Amino acid sequence: MPELPDLAILADAFHAGLTGRPVLAIQAPGPLTVRGTPHEIDGFVGQCLLRFYRRGKFLWLEFERDRIAVNAMLTGRLQLAATPAVKKPQMTTFVMRFGPRAGGPPADAGAWTAEAAWIPSPEATPELRYRDPTQMGKIYLLPHNVERQVPGAGPDEMGPDADDPELSLAVWRTRIRRHPGELKNLLRNQEFVAGVGNAYSDEILHAARLQPFRKRGTLAAEEIDEMYAATRSVLANAVAVLRERVPPAFEKEVRDFLAVHNRGGEACPRCGHPITQVEAGGFVTSYCRNCQR
Ligand SMILES: [Zn+2]
Repeated sequence: MPELPDLAILADAFHAGLTGRPVLAIQAPGPLTVRGTPHEIDGFVGQCLLRFYRRGKFLWLEFERDRIAVNAMLTGRLQLAATPAVKKPQMTTFVMRFGPRAGGPPADAGAWTAEAAWIPSPEATPELRYRDPTQMGKIYLLPHNVERQVPGAGPDEMGPDADDPELSLAVWRTRIRRHPGELKNLLRNQEFVAGVGNAYSDEILHAARLQPFRKRGTLAAEEIDEMYAATRSVLANAVAVLRERVPPAFEKEVRDFLAVHNRGGEACPRCGHPITQVEAGGFVTSYCRNCQR
């Protein structure tokens, strides 16, 4: 499941590669993926992409008049094909072809994308492709004159991004008081902070030396602060790694550098004790019984 670091890379890359280009054509061979009508799909053709960004676990595409929101859920992946000739992944359910643009990347493109070889040339006609074997993810078409809910993306459903500079330690201490439950569920709760899911919650709790099933109410003040510091450092480190590792295969999820998640039975990188792994409701939780309290 893509989480904040995965989606941050995609948003930066697609903003750098596609913003400033007009939509040439859209195909939606996977009818379960798209929330919108064929007429609404046609309405995007000719509109220029102005901005591609991430908020929580959603990707947003802002065009001249209309918008699109993408919620990749469990298995949705996005590919940037420099030309339409690049082979399509299986179960591609949405394709947006873009035209040439006058200049290079937009002025506010992430510094790490500068001069990247994978940025399509100005005259190229690149494609944004969405593939989703389970078709659980959704692409919401949001024409300016259509009211359509994007579940999970409402202002009351999402707290600040876990990497938001405005989310200070003081704000974290205040927000966390409203959530008495288990720490792993707390980190995955998008109303608390947005962008963290099953994998990075394990990583954050390992870094903070806290047990995933402990209740927030049992934490000492310094443990709450430790969790904040770990959230920031784990996500920042993952983004740095993924910038190096992911491009140009944006459709691949790189997770092999994680410390504990999905590494049940392997040695804890901090203390060497075997990592414990439990599965509940189809979700894996991995942690070290020895060095996480
Ligand atoms: Zn350990």
